[in-house]
Amino acid sequence: MKDKSKLIFELKKIVGDNNIITSEWGKEPFSKGWRYGDGNALAVVKPGKLIEIWKILKLCVENELIILMQAANTGLTGGSTPNGNDYDRQIIIINTTRINDIQVINNGKQVIGLAGSTLYDLEKKLEKYGRDPHSVIGSTSIGASIVGGVCNNSGGSLVQRGPAFTQLALYARVNKKGELELINELDLELGSKPEEILQNLEDKNYTNTDIINSDKLASDNKYSEIVRNINS
Ligand SMILES: Cc1cc2nc3c(=O)[nH]c(=O)nc-3n(C[C@H](O)[C@H](O)[C@H](O)COP(=O)(O)OP(=O)(O)OC[C@H]3O[C@@H](n4cnc5c(N)ncnc54)[C@H](O)[C@@H]3O)c2cc1C
Repeated sequence: MKDKSKLIFELKKIVGDNNIITSEWGKEPFSKGWRYGDGNALAVVKPGKLIEIWKILKLCVENELIILMQAANTGLTGGSTPNGNDYDRQIIIINTTRINDIQVINNGKQVIGLAGSTLYDLEKKLEKYGRDPHSVIGSTSIGASIVGGVCNNSGGSLVQRGPAFTQLALYARVNKKGELELINELDLELGSKPEEILQNLEDKNYTNTDIINSDKLASDNKYSEIVRNINS
């Protein structure tokens, strides 16, 4: 890892001085879980744009830092925060709550929820279409996110719809060569280069003709059938 102060300086260049937290007391709401999980992080970074997440990820990969993605930190599994202090490398928590746009597509049949978008805002946004979010959960009222819900398979008691689930996503990963890559499985034509894809998505720079209507699912439409099948 680079010199710590140099790294913090570079993170500040990406997100601005006000969106990086390094003080112990300031980090606590992000480094401590609601029920489980508590541990040190080098910094909490709060990007305001998708492209900023990409730049932070690049910096973390270059410096072999542990990346911990976090939305509202209401998860009850310990997955949203460090857990203990015996990691082999330093941790950066990327909190996505500033990136909260919800883009309604296909005349209200689908939405694209950016990383920190909330179930609460989704409920409001869908009202005019006469629709409800897939999940209305206990933590909707305290800011739980759409993406955190998919990661945690939240909303498990919804027998008709099952836990939150999707086959449509835009995500970054580190490949076998140790390189960061952006994978577009949103079924939406957004370009080819990561920066272009992220900018086009953020700016809603796409039209209905860019939407690929495949048979990928954004919820488990067989859940109710499977959960009731007592002969399997
Ligand atoms: C009072 C209360 C009531 C609750 N009620 C319910 C309930 O009724 N039903 C239910 O199912 N759960 C419930 N929960 C649990 C929790 O709210 C849900 O799991 C919720 O979906 C988590 O959303 P979040 O935005 O807080 O995600 P976080 O806690 O921030 O993150 C959850 C997981 O997603 C990962 N993650 C987040 N963003 C990204 C990203 N961009 N990329 C990759 N990984 C990411 C995190 O690393 C973490 O592992 C409740 C919790 C509380 C505190």
